[in-house]
Amino acid sequence: MSHTTPKLNAFPVFMRVEGQTVAIVGGGEEALAKARLIGQSSAVLRIIAENAEPALLAFIAQTGTNHFAAAYDASQLEGAVMVFAASGDEELDRRVVTDARRLSIPANAVDRPELCDFFTPALVNRAPVAIAIGTEGAGPVLAQMLRGRIDRMLSPSLGPLAILAASFRGAAENLLPRGNARRRFWNDFFAGAPARAAEAGQLSQAHDAAVDLLLSNVPACGHVALVGAGPGAEDLLTLRAHRLLMEADVIVHDALVPEAVVAMGRRDAERLPVGKRKGCHTKSQAEINALLVELGREGKRVVRLKSGDPLVFGRAGEEMAALRDAGIAYEVVPGVTAAFAAAADFELPLTLRGVSSSMVFTTGHDLKGNSLPDWAKLAISGATVAVYMGRSVAAEVAGRLIEAGLSPDTAVAVVENASLANRRRFHGTLADLPSLEARADLSGPVMTIIGDAVAGANFERSEPLAAHRHEGASSSVAEGVQQ
Ligand code: SAH
Repeated sequence: MSHTTPKLNAFPVFMRVEGQTVAIVGGGEEALAKARLIGQSSAVLRIIAENAEPALLAFIAQTGTNHFAAAYDASQLEGAVMVFAASGDEELDRRVVTDARRLSIPANAVDRPELCDFFTPALVNRAPVAIAIGTEGAGPVLAQMLRGRIDRMLSPSLGPLAILAASFRGAAENLLPRGNARRRFWNDFFAGAPARAAEAGQLSQAHDAAVDLLLSNVPACGHVALVGAGPGAEDLLTLRAHRLLMEADVIVHDALVPEAVVAMGRRDAERLPVGKRKGCHTKSQAEINALLVELGREGKRVVRLKSGDPLVFGRAGEEMAALRDAGIAYEVVPGVTAAFAAAADFELPLTLRGVSSSMVFTTGHDLKGNSLPDWAKLAISGATVAVYMGRSVAAEVAGRLIEAGLSPDTAVAVVENASLANRRRFHGTLADLPSLEARADLSGPVMTIIGDAVAGANFERSEPLAAHRHEGASSSVAEGVQQ
């Protein structure tokens, strides 16, 4: 540490409290907050409160906590290893601290740092793992913020995994020489197959995977996570996606995933853009499949980051098949698909009682030949239709649907860059939809939602599509409208 780093005035330690008494003086909210905090440990709580409030009484009854329902007296502190003065009354708190010190018991007075022998941290609890955040009483709000951030980063399965780790310690020390081999074992334990099994709630599999690791001592086998990045906004990433990004050795991402989302990955992770944007395929799908297999074989932890949900127009099927054939472990992490983000931006109910009770995810790119797409029937029977990659085929989609019998007046909502700050919303009817094709001002991804449920959306922040209606309207639609 550099000599310019200021010194800590309070040094964090973990104190053994199992079976020890912790006394709290006070009957209100502050006392309850401390009781809840200490209640996360196996200490024996003693609450000293002549007039405990109902919430505290309920806590006491629920947890079977010792309650001294008498006026405060110093003798009540005897035998405690820690004392909290949480009465809310400054004079009483001061007396409690003085008494505790006379009995050589460290004391904490709520909201009075000058009276405290120790501070309680903001706590991230994954028992037996604990992360304590302290600000020396200066910034409880800051501490809570950090707590929230760290909490989101850590898997709920960290606790069980740590318990499992403790049970392997002896074996690892006996079987593996100190140094690299042992370090690699623990690395693979906490980031490899045992961790993944624990994450999935399969503790006996986690145990077996750890035994395998211990006995085989082979280099780690790779793992590929097909991860949905959501529609673009960083905070629509799932916590699981974020965690995997933080653990990845390599991030293989599509062009549609914004830089800001990719940047949420571990700083020293390798980043491989694989393009796949209309008109600029930097790698073919076969090349991407081969790349994932190769990285997996090298033992890498790979995140294959796809926009939206990986299983919706994401070619995940091919990547999973390639990984399966190569015997490389993989998992899928869902994401917020573009249709959902667009619907949210429009406050558009995708299902609407009495109007629409089914939904179609489709793309305009399968409209080859003369036969009607099978989803046209669903649209006519009231399904809400979400069209992916539909901009360049907007006229074809509208024409075919009208031909199939859907009213040209059916409501349509279009969102460019759904979920992002620069999103644009348009509304209109099926007859207006072809105008999309001619709009050169739309450079971002575009989601089109068609159906009667669209009428339930909020059009306050959208522009009419019809403004462009005649510029690029295709003749098939004009004919359709006349029919
Ligand atoms: N797997 C993705 C879809 C990939 S196909 C998902 O689940 O969302 C690419 C198409 O998705 C684009 O052509 C566009 O129609 C849609 N799309 C993706 N992100 C979008 C966004 N932020 N706004 C609007 N449409 C989007």
